[in-house]
Amino acid sequence: MLVALNQADELVTLRSHDQARQLFGQSFRCPACKGELRIKNGAQLIAHFAHKDNACNASSEPESETHLAGKWWLAKFGEQLGDQVALETYYPQIQQRADVVWEHHGRSRVLEFQCSGISPERLRVRTAGYQSLGLEVVWIAGPAYITRWPGGKQARFVQWSKNAGFHLWQLNPQSKVLTRLQLIGPAIVETDYRQGLPPQTRRREYIEPLASRAKAIQLALVHRAPAVMKLQAQASAQGRNLAGAPWLIHMQLRHLPGLDAPEWAMRAAWLLTFQAQPIKKAAEAAFWRQYSSVRAPQLPEGQLQSSIRRQWLEVLNHAGLLQETATGWQWLRVPQWYQTIDEKLQALGQARQG
Ligand SMILES: [Zn+2]
Repeated sequence: MLVALNQADELVTLRSHDQARQLFGQSFRCPACKGELRIKNGAQLIAHFAHKDNACNASSEPESETHLAGKWWLAKFGEQLGDQVALETYYPQIQQRADVVWEHHGRSRVLEFQCSGISPERLRVRTAGYQSLGLEVVWIAGPAYITRWPGGKQARFVQWSKNAGFHLWQLNPQSKVLTRLQLIGPAIVETDYRQGLPPQTRRREYIEPLASRAKAIQLALVHRAPAVMKLQAQASAQGRNLAGAPWLIHMQLRHLPGLDAPEWAMRAAWLLTFQAQPIKKAAEAAFWRQYSSVRAPQLPEGQLQSSIRRQWLEVLNHAGLLQETATGWQWLRVPQWYQTIDEKLQALGQARQG
């Protein structure tokens, strides 16, 4: 912690090792739980306060050097942007302490810099707490959460806005870069923010050959992955082989993390559900409700599903397979299933030569 109450009940922000030396010997209390604090002023860590003996639940994580450095970085960056900045604002109504708050034209934005583990459920509860006070909250993933391509572990940080679409934030205090990652289908657009420099944007593509995607299903079948075996049972009942599922299930994926099944598997299940009949709107809508986005607690339930659904219907429409009717859709042509993975791969090769 960087902010504490002194004996006169005033808030004191610990800004330097020098200041910490001067304050040594005075007594301080936690603004949230009122527990006694001590000053930690070692050579390695940023000067900070720590609880003497009690644990404190106001913050979303225990203090660490990375977390301390990140809070200072965000405070300084907010000041450079011209915002009013407060460190560790405590909201007694919800018993939560925000890492950093930026205020601009009366609009407060809570920044939570998350370095240690936090469950999607806890993140959801803390987000709801801030929202109950009318505060916007932005979660920023720390180094432990930074990977090349966001997956299930990063889904808890994914949020959506009209301007940026699906995106998440990450901060590495060591390299002093705050990054926004926008997830837009086969690409990620990354915008880096450094103090005192203009933002820099670059684009990365998701590169995975179609053949590898198809082979991954075959491999999951060989390893008898439970979710895949369930789909395979459904396919077998219709005389089909999951490894030979139509190529369309791999194409133009949204690559959004946070749902409890891979995108290709949802598409395969969709085909197995609807391929043999005209598609009724109500049944189609109900289909997507079997999936949960509990791992992406900052998004309203159903938002990921509907984005993935929209993309899938577009792929089908684009391929000229469906025609919309008053009550749903009818098939113009049914996508082709293959007997085996080899036959499927062969068809891909032929399509490319043709
Ligand atoms: Zn406390």
